[in-house]
Amino acid sequence: MTVHTAAASAREEALAILKRLGVSDTAFASTGLAARSPVTGEIIAHIREAGAAETRAAVDRAEKAFAEWRRVPAPRRGEFVRLLGEELRAAKEDLGLLVTLEAGKIVSEGLGEVQEMIDICDFAVGLSRQLYGLTIATERPHHRMMETWHPLGPVGVITAFNFPVAVWSWNAALAFICGDPVIWKPSEKTPLAALAVTAITERAAKRFGGVPEGLFELIIGGREAGEALVADERVPLVSATGSTAMGRKVGPKLAERFARAILELGGNNAAVVAPSAVLDIALRAIAFAAMGTAGQRCTTLRRLIVHSSVYDKLVPRLAKVYGNVAIGDPRVKGTLVGPLIDKAAFDGMEKALAEAKSLGATVHGGGRVAGIGGEEAYYARPALVEMPGQSGPMLRETFAPILYVVKYDTFEEAIALHNSVGAGLSSSIFTLDMREAERFVSAEGSDCGIANVNIGPSGAEIGGAFGGEKETGGGREAGSDAWKAYMRRATNTINYGTALPLAQGVTFDVDA
Ligand code: NAD
Repeated sequence: MTVHTAAASAREEALAILKRLGVSDTAFASTGLAARSPVTGEIIAHIREAGAAETRAAVDRAEKAFAEWRRVPAPRRGEFVRLLGEELRAAKEDLGLLVTLEAGKIVSEGLGEVQEMIDICDFAVGLSRQLYGLTIATERPHHRMMETWHPLGPVGVITAFNFPVAVWSWNAALAFICGDPVIWKPSEKTPLAALAVTAITERAAKRFGGVPEGLFELIIGGREAGEALVADERVPLVSATGSTAMGRKVGPKLAERFARAILELGGNNAAVVAPSAVLDIALRAIAFAAMGTAGQRCTTLRRLIVHSSVYDKLVPRLAKVYGNVAIGDPRVKGTLVGPLIDKAAFDGMEKALAEAKSLGATVHGGGRVAGIGGEEAYYARPALVEMPGQSGPMLRETFAPILYVVKYDTFEEAIALHNSVGAGLSSSIFTLDMREAERFVSAEGSDCGIANVNIGPSGAEIGGAFGGEKETGGGREAGSDAWKAYMRRATNTINYGTALPLAQGVTFDVDA
């Protein structure tokens, strides 16, 4: 194991970045929500928390902004998002490093997250000229039937700590071009990245020549602020990203008031390694998907289902990679695994490993790595866990770098193991057998929202619709036609004739 110790104060570096990005000191307070860096464990700043009253006030402003913004032509709204993309390009290095300092991602992943924001802005700009509706054949003479898409209203966006900036942009870039204001409630663990993104968006708004006040609102706070947003009748759509436990609370509340929900919840993602897999490719893909972001991606690979004929060739090599991986300060070149977000995450990892051992598992790795950062910085060795069967902690998501491995003998057995967990986010198969690959992505294969062949389950591009089934919540955001969730569809029928024929041959003749 290679250990990279903490390079310098994360606090000083983060404060300097915030200043450069235009976050004013007035955002900070002497008490309130503590923004802590998982890299060194230092508190970077305190921020005043918004409560229910501030959330209502933000929705007031967003509601007013909606009345104006929906009248702006969509391609013009796209121009605002184009400028946002430009500002993000200019801020990429600083914002990426801030993500590293506040969420603990290695530098290339922090930068990658900002690149994702830029990509979705580009995508949304093009889309702003493509919000197409259909023209539909009508059964009535001299009639025309068509679909039109209209702005929906203020969109609530609740985000998780592990993608502190990209998830906002997946939602916001689409919402803005669709004509909707956005009220953002970021994770209480990553408020600084949200402040920085808001300052960057303000610059884009200024260059645009001003946008209605309330077009982009930020509510810094915890669960209560999120609950107030979810409860507000004036918010017709809430896109909530986080744990399945959070979704179980938020989903019914939105359903109760007939609001739309985009739920992007937990994953328990698996990969199948078949007899014909190219093991060199599988090994690299597995290492990135399972250990990258210190196992804290919703798409992190958590379960490996390996054919018994290749198990002894793959698993010892994988154990070696786990033993050698560079762990430490994510700012240091060469580090591949940074810190866990906090003590609760580390405790959760320890608990899951203890449970796996009690079930007879062989655990390679695991445990705290001392000497990096302060007492409040939690670095863990990724764990590779050979399980006697799929049970216990393997059936649920533990948000830490644990990869459980089991054997299979028949393809049917692999699919059954694959699909028999609660979550349904992402999946992959490593095989050169065309029949296996096609079956895996067919209706009888993986039951996930994302199913890949010969790549791992993580690291999606924005062009596809992102999201998963079952306990992952069923939401889709980012690419493809995900934009439709942010708009209201109207079906219009226009009579340009001189008579009034009714559909389905109904007659209703009155003396007129
Ligand atoms: P979390 O559920 O603890 O918090 C997520 C957000 O929900 C936070 O902003 C939090 O304040 C808010 N929240 C919590 N309870 C709420 C409530 N009752 N009402 C309104 N808001 C509430 O999740 P986390 O620890 O920040 O993130 C990790 C989890 O997120 C993992 O389960 C991961 O798989 C999931 N995740 C999913 C996706 C996806 O796209 N499917 C993406 C990233 C993360």
